[in-house]
Amino acid sequence: MPKKFNKTSRLVRFARSLLAIVAAGSLILFVGAARPAKPRKFSIPTMPRPTRTVAFSQKAPVAPLAADAELLQDARPAAAVLQPAKKHRVVKMEVTAYCACTKCCGPNAQGITASGLHVSHNGGKFVAADNDVLAMYTKVVVPGYDSQPVPVIDRGGAIKGYKLDLYFPTHEEALQWGRQLVDVTVIE
Ligand SMILES: [Zn+2]
Repeated sequence: MPKKFNKTSRLVRFARSLLAIVAAGSLILFVGAARPAKPRKFSIPTMPRPTRTVAFSQKAPVAPLAADAELLQDARPAAAVLQPAKKHRVVKMEVTAYCACTKCCGPNAQGITASGLHVSHNGGKFVAADNDVLAMYTKVVVPGYDSQPVPVIDRGGAIKGYKLDLYFPTHEEALQWGRQLVDVTVIE
């Protein structure tokens, strides 16, 4: 009988030790399994990032393209509005000529224009105008006088309304011009 007891007690001990090994083994496995959970915790916050960017990129093709199209349509009229500020106006004017001599500019002629600039300004290429019609320093293109725009830097008692007086370095050149009706381009 005691042998039987002995046998069962051995079996129980064996079983207990087996359970202990299994328990220890499963504990190691559990700890081992628990450890990889830590990096998972870190990887979880990073997971929504790609899904978010996907969400943005899904919205992106629709809305910004429509916005770009609107911007392009808006840009065209805007450019058209800005351009008229630089437009050129063609005005038919009665154009005479003068030089810096006393015959043209009176006994006190000193070669200084009403703007204060000397007659040598712009290579002696400029005009006198009625400043109520063309403000001082306005640029005009006068066919037959110069191909380049020339400035208004002078005025004269006889130059009123749509009249211009072209400056020439000699009285003879001024006389040659005489009096002409010319389509003057006013640059504004
Ligand atoms: Zn003269």
